[in-house]
Amino acid sequence: MVKKLLFITFLVTIVSCQEAKVTPVLSTSTLALLEKSKLLQERALQLEQKVQSYQATYDTIEVGAALLTALSDDAFVDVEKISTNFILDIKYATNDNFLNEAVYSCAKCYVRAKMAKALYAVSKKFMKLGYRIKLFDCYRPYSVQKAMWKLYPNPGYVADPKGGSIHNRGAAVDMTLTDLTGQELDMGTAFDHFGREANHTYTQLPAAVLANRKLLRSTMEAQGFSIIRTEWWHYNYKTTPRFPIADFRWECE
Ligand SMILES: [Zn+2]
Repeated sequence: MVKKLLFITFLVTIVSCQEAKVTPVLSTSTLALLEKSKLLQERALQLEQKVQSYQATYDTIEVGAALLTALSDDAFVDVEKISTNFILDIKYATNDNFLNEAVYSCAKCYVRAKMAKALYAVSKKFMKLGYRIKLFDCYRPYSVQKAMWKLYPNPGYVADPKGGSIHNRGAAVDMTLTDLTGQELDMGTAFDHFGREANHTYTQLPAAVLANRKLLRSTMEAQGFSIIRTEWWHYNYKTTPRFPIADFRWECE
């Protein structure tokens, strides 16, 4: 009997040892890693779904091109009517600008139709590369230019109304790039940072920042836009003859 009991105990020990082998105990750090990888997978899936929904939007904006062909080159166009891919963050319609005062009644981005066509084409290029255009300022009515000058009469920061700004001609935009989810790319400084760090010639910046600025600049220049040396966010669309200075005021709903 004792022998039998000893034999059973021996068998139970063997089986439990084997069980222990097939079910290894995971360390806390391994469990944490598994949890992290699960979270990352979920996040990747969410991001993919978000991108797919933006791509779906992108597929529907082709209507915008048809709108533009019907307009004369100098007509003012609301860019939101051409494409839902433009993101508007019109700083002068808020207090979040160097004047600390809103000078627009509402946030709108108008440009001349000829420029809108180029902006639309470049937006499509960026979308294919996985980026969207975010606009900080577009056409600026001449009377607003005068009001800005009155608030801040410093030619280093505001164009003197005597000559006007290309924004007053509806042929300039201030912009940056975002990823497809709307997250801004790092351009090294904020919009309207009036320091040498905002210059195109300033290179003491991380490689990723320089690459982002280069991507923006090369794609814009390939579509006929030009830069000004001091502001990485400013792009002109020059035409001959130039569009006249305007004081058209947009409607606010
Ligand atoms: Zn500008």
